Amino acid sequence: MFFDPMYLVFMAPAMILALWAQAKTQRAFSHYSRVGNSAGMTGAEAAARMLRSQGIDIVARPEEAKGRKNVAAIVQIGGVLSDHYDPGAKVLRLSPQVYGGRSLSAVGVACHEAGHAMQDAHDYAWLGMRTALVPVASFGSWLAMPLILLGFILTSPNLLLIGILAFSAIVLFQLITLPVEFDASRRAKLALAELGVISGPQEARAVATVLNAAAWTYVAAAVSAIMTLLYYLWVFSQSRD
Ligand SMILES: [Zn+2]
Repeated sequence: MFFDPMYLVFMAPAMILALWAQAKTQRAFSHYSRVGNSAGMTGAEAAARMLRSQGIDIVARPEEAKGRKNVAAIVQIGGVLSDHYDPGAKVLRLSPQVYGGRSLSAVGVACHEAGHAMQDAHDYAWLGMRTALVPVASFGSWLAMPLILLGFILTSPNLLLIGILAFSAIVLFQLITLPVEFDASRRAKLALAELGVISGPQEARAVATVLNAAAWTYVAAAVSAIMTLLYYLWVFSQSRD
């Protein structure tokens, strides 16, 4: 298919925002990876303390956590900034720098993931909605592009419209991700201060810098999905002329 310059008009601002957010996150994370937290705790220790304070048991082996309520396992995985919480397995997977690091970045990111485990244990509605949307969004992303391309080639507005509907599942997923991510960071900031992992306004500001930068990457992903949807709608409106 030929390249449509209108695509760039829609997508350039979103791409710039995404690159900016990614650079900001990497810079903040690596900067505060070199600054120790005042408790001298690793990310894994801080996450465990945060979860125990909420009545969530930490089990040593991930197999023991799967499908159980108020139980979580904390394991190390490879990569950089690959940290995530898996609600199905009840496992926090932390990258090496976060799992074993005693920095402000390590405890900030680890407790953000612990924030997701807390959301799960407390049946936080937005997380439940996000989890329920995962299969819908992945089906949508699998279906959207072929349908939109086919609709374009066959000049069929109906196919195009079904493709756009499939794509809107991805937009919805990205939007619901925002409150889930903001809330996890809010829980992390509160717990880190309350449990004495960090102390003083300087450490609180450092953790906020890392977590707020990461939040921008989710905003950028949502903006990118919305702009893609708007571009498809624009293509659809042209196809009907
Ligand atoms: Zn998160």
